[in-house]
Amino acid sequence: MKLFETVTGMGHEQVLFCHDSASHLRAIIAIHDTSLGTAMGATRLWPYVSEIDALSDALRLSRGMTYKAACANIPVGGAKAVIIAHPSEKNPELLRAYGRFVHRLQGQFVTGQDVNLTPDDVREICCETQYVVGQEEKAGGPAPVTAMGVLLGIQAAIAYRWQQENLEGMRVAVQGLGNVGHHLCQYLHERGAKLYVCDLDPAKTEEVKRRYQATVVEPQEIYSQDVDLFSPCALGSVLNDATIPQLKAQIVAGAANNQLENELIHSYLLHEKNILYCPDYVINAGGLINVYNEMIGYKEAKVFQQLNNISDGLLQIFERSNLNNISTHQAAQNLAEDRLKSARAKTGSLKSSHNKLFPQVKRELFNNSPVVRQLIP
Ligand code: NAD
Repeated sequence: MKLFETVTGMGHEQVLFCHDSASHLRAIIAIHDTSLGTAMGATRLWPYVSEIDALSDALRLSRGMTYKAACANIPVGGAKAVIIAHPSEKNPELLRAYGRFVHRLQGQFVTGQDVNLTPDDVREICCETQYVVGQEEKAGGPAPVTAMGVLLGIQAAIAYRWQQENLEGMRVAVQGLGNVGHHLCQYLHERGAKLYVCDLDPAKTEEVKRRYQATVVEPQEIYSQDVDLFSPCALGSVLNDATIPQLKAQIVAGAANNQLENELIHSYLLHEKNILYCPDYVINAGGLINVYNEMIGYKEAKVFQQLNNISDGLLQIFERSNLNNISTHQAAQNLAEDRLKSARAKTGSLKSSHNKLFPQVKRELFNNSPVVRQLIP
């Protein structure tokens, strides 16, 4: 891999390789773009087969965070960190060593919990640094807010496609009834939608059937349901050569990350079939909006106000897609790039953007965040 060529090509500002010989820590912190504000990105622990795989993941995911924040119109930049280790290799020394590296960045990078890190692990990292927010597994976690963001996105999509605000009688297929999918079913049911659902766990489908009068279907049959809208809330790569031809839904709008198996090919396949696809990182930004608000001092009203940015962003994306005959995925990237360009034009250099935005975040990070207060012993 040509390092600088790759990093420059994807637009990264800074990539840190962290090594601690005592704990055998090997981690990569990728800061993609801070034009909009302090870089935020959760930390993932994964037994990558190669260092190139680890770097590629950090580079790709951090760029995704920049676009997600830009489309959600919230003033944070994009970052991601990966710790190269098997979950069985996790220990307090390793996590603390990582925490010291995060702390050295003095708040240019604020992190949180991602794959293979538990709330206890986050607590360990917090022994060395305050620059940590969010806990996936704290009571309820961000899922209800994420699901509410998805609901608002669905409402924007049906308003755009059918000039209709109302979900009454709308047929919706929901794939995955975990933290987000279950809440989404509740919100849709309360608004009169008719649900078709699947999950690998029969206890979850039974509960949703009982509570929200959903029709349960086999997981492999969810794509071909005769519905208005398909909502993937389980896995990545579910929109692919095999599944897209099966879709009868005219809208795809769900929380799952990385829904398109191949972003370019499958976003255009959906576009050609005239299926209105809500880009996953735009519609599922509720989780990021939630942790951003934890960082600046959580106020529920502000979170709900900012969730409207999701529908506003989607409507702009649909319009761009229509006017320029491009996929909604491409339109979302263009919207993000335009917002980054105008932020850069306002803030000028990297340095000035940090100086302006970070002190406020830092002060509030320590004083106001309920999650940080909860995490710091
Ligand atoms: P979760 O693990 O709680 O739920 C996922 C559910 O999908 C589980 O019930 C699982 O049994 C089911 N599932 C797995 N494979 C399936 C299959 N083939 N068919 C049907 N069901 C299947 O996860 P979650 O927190 O609800 O998140 C759902 C998705 O949304 C994930 O892709 C996640 O990355 C994304 N997301 C979540 C949040 C959040 O706030 N939790 C925020 C942004 C994005």
